[in-house]
Amino acid sequence: MIIVLRTISELRAWRNALPPGSRLGLVPTMGALHAGHISLVDLARTHCDTVITSIFVNPLQFGPKEDLARYPRPIENDIAMLEAAGVDALFLPEYGEVYLPDNSTYVVEEAVSLPLCGALRPGHFRGVATVVLKLFNLTQPHFAFFGQKDAQQCAVIERMVRDLNVPVEIVRGAIVREEDGLAMSSRNVYLEPSQRALAPLLYQSLLAASQAYAAGERDAQKLEAIGRALLGDQPGIEVQYWEIRDRQSLAPIHTIGPDGCLIALAAYLGNTRLIDNLILGA
Ligand code: AMP
Repeated sequence: MIIVLRTISELRAWRNALPPGSRLGLVPTMGALHAGHISLVDLARTHCDTVITSIFVNPLQFGPKEDLARYPRPIENDIAMLEAAGVDALFLPEYGEVYLPDNSTYVVEEAVSLPLCGALRPGHFRGVATVVLKLFNLTQPHFAFFGQKDAQQCAVIERMVRDLNVPVEIVRGAIVREEDGLAMSSRNVYLEPSQRALAPLLYQSLLAASQAYAAGERDAQKLEAIGRALLGDQPGIEVQYWEIRDRQSLAPIHTIGPDGCLIALAAYLGNTRLIDNLILGA
């Protein structure tokens, strides 16, 4: 039976009662769970004795014009999914439990958080890094699990953990996709049918570049042109970025070397902003 912990004191009491030596895994989420989240839970269960998930829609990582108010919150369904997946505990705090009214301390990573989504969503990764470090301090997990779907988020958290000597091992889980290739996301429910029909093109643009890479193309500009061409003619898709980057540093790459690269994209379909990515090579 899953235990729902709503306060920090409940969380701490639960944490303190775990058997010494028991390996604890944390899967942080914002809820509206789907098979992508559950794949992280499954991964956590292979690494850990005890698994805790958090659901917290963190206002600090949303911009003033973003979808905080309309973000889906199907909490009963989420709890049933976590229970079925064998999660031991759910940390489900209210806003005031996480942030005091005069909270004035934040975590700012100043390199990998700057390009891509960081440039387009000011303050986003400051919000992410701050809440994730708080969740680590509250939960004190041995492992924490994050989806490759949010590749830049993974890079920011790995850098934070390294730079601040946080004693948590970060594990990345693979992207889970719908049958037609669209990366699963809590935001996919916003898509109208016509937008949903276009959405698999995002992944197809990554695959088109991947095919050219497999055929020997190593020039990043040429691969970008191939990927963008697939999306450029679509009136319903507005590409924010479609870029080839170093997998770790997220720095731009001109010629893809033996370490391969990350292709990352963000696009609007109507008012809905979707991201996706693919690793090439290695
Ligand atoms: P979110 O609830 O969107 O903050 O996501 C919580 C965690 O689930 C993050 O580590 C995400 O990267 C991960 N995640 C979201 N979508 C997917 C997906 N399609 N496949 C794998 N992991 C995902």
